[in-house]
Amino acid sequence: MEVEIATIGGYEEVGRQMTAVRAGDDIVIFDMGLNLSKVLIHDNVETERMHSLDLIDMGAIPDDRVMSELEGDVKAIVPTHGHLDHIGAISKLAHRYDAPVVATPYTIELVKQEIKGEEKFGVQNDLVKMEAGGTMSIGDKNELEFVNVTHSVIDAINPVLHTPEGSVVYGLDKRMDHTPVLGDPIDMKRFREIGREGEGVLCYIEDCTNAGRKGRTPSESVARRHLKDVMTSIEDYDGGIVATTFSSHIARVKSLVEFADEIGRQPVLLGRSMEKYSGTAERLDFVDFPDDLGMYGHRKSVDRTFKRIMNDGKENFLPIVTGHQGEPRAMLTRMGRGETPYELEDGDKVLFSARVIPEPSNEGQRYQSEQLLKMQGARLYDDIHVSGHLREEGHYQMLQALQPQNVIPGHQSMSGFAPYVSLAESQGYKLGRDLHATSNGNRITLVE
Ligand SMILES: [Zn+2]
Repeated sequence: MEVEIATIGGYEEVGRQMTAVRAGDDIVIFDMGLNLSKVLIHDNVETERMHSLDLIDMGAIPDDRVMSELEGDVKAIVPTHGHLDHIGAISKLAHRYDAPVVATPYTIELVKQEIKGEEKFGVQNDLVKMEAGGTMSIGDKNELEFVNVTHSVIDAINPVLHTPEGSVVYGLDKRMDHTPVLGDPIDMKRFREIGREGEGVLCYIEDCTNAGRKGRTPSESVARRHLKDVMTSIEDYDGGIVATTFSSHIARVKSLVEFADEIGRQPVLLGRSMEKYSGTAERLDFVDFPDDLGMYGHRKSVDRTFKRIMNDGKENFLPIVTGHQGEPRAMLTRMGRGETPYELEDGDKVLFSARVIPEPSNEGQRYQSEQLLKMQGARLYDDIHVSGHLREEGHYQMLQALQPQNVIPGHQSMSGFAPYVSLAESQGYKLGRDLHATSNGNRITLVE
């Protein structure tokens, strides 16, 4: 059977991930994401109303023209998890393919909300839920399997396409967490089995985001302990404490909510995306928040909540807000600009349970936001965080577990691939032979 890979998006950048695997006549698409930084540099861009071609020109969504060169039928579109760089282009591209979107329940729910917000295209693709550990036939000869992985969003998987020529393992995005705060540990046992059964692993596509960082990415339970240490250390402070983190990072939000309670403060989630991700996770029973946890997304209800906090005393609350990257319209930035009823005072604490995404526009925005907060006297606690992506030793362990015949580095630009290429070469792979560092829009033939 012929097997080939099309590298559509995310091979020249971190963002707009999209890869297709053709096995015989069947094609499966892994991820269909957005490159948010290409959207944010334009002022007031409303992607909901934009045409796909304009977004492709901006570099915001994958340029999927290479798909017309693949001879086969798309049988499934498979987003690996709910981050926008993996699902954010489904509302713009999925309608071009007569195939269902297949994902885990939390991811499907987020995809559903993306499609609902879309104003330009009617996306009618079936949305099919499949749990981690589940399998599905793809045509007569291939099978799709979801292997449970751990990442900075719940319900993440690595999909595997089992073909008669061996398995194609799509390895975006994960860290190796054996003690996650929410959900099951990464299923390394299954990866090891896949590496040894049948024809073994024909190809492994790997997330190189942190390939250049040595050692191992710590578990979420380490970030949780760090957070507890910080919050306990300011337990006696009798002024305002505000925290921010990734809205989609439900495990972290859960830790913030629990520690707020432990230091005698009432947690409250503020900002549109806080309400969206946490509300969805609670509705689907992925997390058990206290019954009286307030979540407010709309401007009016947020302002009403801030007024109540100011009336009842800031020292009784922990607002958990959006804006960890300094996004101009997010809640924390608005607080910094003094645009909300919440008044920051000398000595108030702001906890960033996040790391700045190392990208110039993020860094600039975050710098501005920090300056605004400091001008009001806020004390900042930065980097209370662990990454969701493997570092060097995690990559090494994955190669050991899977023993892939071919490796394709992804989720980075060429310079970001370099450390991964060095690691793979040290394990006997050779560029141009079985190690394929490539860019967007290319085809790699694995079996002719
Ligand atoms: Zn991700």
